[in-house]
Amino acid sequence: MTKNETRGYIQVYTGNGKGKTTAAIGLAIRAAGAGLKVFIAQFIKMGDYSEIKALKRFSDLITVEQYGLGRFTDGKPLPEDIAAAQKGLKQVKSIMASEEYKVIILEEANVAAKYGLIREQDLLGLIINKPYDVELVITGRHASSRVIETADLVTEMIPIKHYFEKGVPARVGIEK
Ligand code: ATP
Ligand code: MG
Repeated sequence: MTKNETRGYIQVYTGNGKGKTTAAIGLAIRAAGAGLKVFIAQFIKMGDYSEIKALKRFSDLITVEQYGLGRFTDGKPLPEDIAAAQKGLKQVKSIMASEEYKVIILEEANVAAKYGLIREQDLLGLIINKPYDVELVITGRHASSRVIETADLVTEMIPIKHYFEKGVPARVGIEK
């Protein structure tokens, strides 16, 4: 394998349209199919979403940890929300240093940074200190301009139409 083939890049999935989490989960499945180990750190969220239940079937290759209390959406975070996110930040740093995982996904990290659960500087620190081989994937609305500048691949999901606007709530198996 040439050096270029083992290089990992920084991917960002942001914007208000649907598909950010599904893109990251799809990538995790693809990576696992190639025998690569994947670590998914979910900020903000807590709970047995259908994708989490499904990924448990791949627990030899995919590890999921949640660092949210599952109630923060916007506004001002409580100290508990911040503490949970900070724990995530610390664990992701050590996961990265261990070099055990080829793909690291920071779910909703953009949102965590936007609302001050983690500092933007700390998120940028993870990006900058990423080991050469690691593919780092960052999801969530409101990616900061500095995160976008630092990334190698940025996709913005744009909502052309979404049934959410017609009052359709998140459905089990489709959105959660
Ligand atoms: P998916 O998980 O389906 O890939 P996503 O990760 O891109 O979607 P998020 O930004 O994480 O979507 O949004 C989570 C949930 O917020 C959606 O499943 C939906 O129920 C709800 N939602 C969708 N559009 C809006 C909106 N315009 N305003 C507020 N909430 C929305
Ligand atoms: Mg999402």
